[in-house]
Amino acid sequence: MADEEAALAWMDQALDVAREALEHGEVPVGCLLVCDNEVLGKGRNEVNETKNATRHAEMVAIDRVLEWCQQSNKVYEEVFPKTVLYVTVEPCIMCAAALRLMKIPRVIYGCQNERFGGCGSVLNIASGDLVDTGEPFECIAGYRAKEAVELLKAFYRQENPNAPKSKVRKKKHRSLSSTDGIQKLTE
Ligand SMILES: [Zn+2]
Repeated sequence: MADEEAALAWMDQALDVAREALEHGEVPVGCLLVCDNEVLGKGRNEVNETKNATRHAEMVAIDRVLEWCQQSNKVYEEVFPKTVLYVTVEPCIMCAAALRLMKIPRVIYGCQNERFGGCGSVLNIASGDLVDTGEPFECIAGYRAKEAVELLKAFYRQENPNAPKSKVRKKKHRSLSSTDGIQKLTE
């Protein structure tokens, strides 16, 4: 199926962005916002570099698209509803709320985020009936999930200088290994 191949190809690019995050000592999550076969914005985690816990891949990509809109004289309210967001890990609750507010209609992601996921793993912000919180969006999971999990594992095997010591780190190991089974393609 051509759509499926295209989605996998975009996800490969998102994984490249995630690898870049890993090289920079960030939790390896990569994200692309695509419109009409064009990448309008990319993002990877910048939390450790910026010491700002809100600089998740999706937030960075949204900011890139806002810049793109400004430079290209486009109205962002018209652009975001035409985009598809590809991200290697299920968006967290904060990002899922931001995606709703920006009215991004479709999200394709890799592995589940069992600790923070906002598309069903912890809360379902994606399709929830929420007042004054943008529009629900469609979520398709499982694209390149195995690769996404491998990158996360590679990160947590290293020392994360900003991670809390002891128990919390051990918990992360457990929750990551529990995502191993989730590699199914839902479409
Ligand atoms: Zn997030």
